[in-house]
Amino acid sequence: AKAAGRNTLRFFDPEMQAVVNARAMLEADLRMGLMRNQFLLYYQPHVDEEGRMTGAEALLRWQHPRRGLLTPADFIPLAEDTGLILPLGQWVLKTACAQLAAWSTQPKTANLTLAVNISPRQLRHPDFVIQVLAVLNQTGADPHKLKLELTESMLMDNVEDLIVKMTALKAEGVGFALDDFGTNYSSLTYLKRLPLDQLKIDRSIVRDILTDTGDATIARTIVTLAQSMGLNVIAEGVETREQREFLAQMSCHAFQGYFFGRPAPKEEFGLTHQTPKEP
Ligand code: C2E
Ligand code: CA
Ligand code: CA
Ligand code: CA
Repeated sequence: AKAAGRNTLRFFDPEMQAVVNARAMLEADLRMGLMRNQFLLYYQPHVDEEGRMTGAEALLRWQHPRRGLLTPADFIPLAEDTGLILPLGQWVLKTACAQLAAWSTQPKTANLTLAVNISPRQLRHPDFVIQVLAVLNQTGADPHKLKLELTESMLMDNVEDLIVKMTALKAEGVGFALDDFGTNYSSLTYLKRLPLDQLKIDRSIVRDILTDTGDATIARTIVTLAQSMGLNVIAEGVETREQREFLAQMSCHAFQGYFFGRPAPKEEFGLTHQTPKEP
């Protein structure tokens, strides 16, 4: 029995240890990355029905010294677990608002809005409102052009606190979009109580919209719901002309996706965006 126990331990130990080590290493790297400025924002265009750029979403990237360019899936979960998402999220907000302020000084980009992803932990922080207002103040960005993207899952707990925070920021002009809408269980009762501006149709729905009648129905329902609540609606993950046309037929007139432009660093932003040619 003793020998078997030792075998079991030998079997599990190295694997467990490897996972723990990898996490610890990534956490140390994250702290270092923050200090050494290894993070950057990519920007992906938001376009209207004519294919004109109306704004962008800021998407976080990490230029890791050994592992190359990492996307959020590689490090946001750990940043959430460790609380490092707070300084990281603060950096994102500051950098995005500085970019927004810079755009406003150029005629070509003066009217662009910028959407920033907010993590649940940031939103739950008691100083969230003060921190956002401080960043707007420091950077001189126009609050009316800033849109904060929240996800459904984070709206479930403590709705009262959330309404207070959103209302305070809304009073200054900041907008709110509900990201990944239609992918989770949604309660329409809380949805109605939140001072939202926009629903975002998730790319997992857009992906199969032409072939999966269930997804087409969900998309149509979201558009109808948005209209009835007086909210804007935007579809993300639009990769083809056919998807865009199908969405336009259901009265969705704002889009984001590879068809219009991939996420790109600020230097290239705008260059990847092509106005789709009409047939
Ligand atoms: P999201 O907010 O749903 O962002 C959209 C994701 O879809 C982005 O992935 C974008 O690159 C990708 N995408 C856009 N258009 C297309 C398309 O046409 N086809 C396909 N296949 N994909 C498309 P990304 O940049 O890897 O970001 C993944 C997620 O990480 C985001 O999903 C968001 O939840 C999170 N995230 C990104 N930046 C931040 C940030 O600054 N803070 C926080 N807390 N989360 C972030
Ligand atoms: Ca988003
Ligand atoms: Ca999404
Ligand atoms: Ca599907």
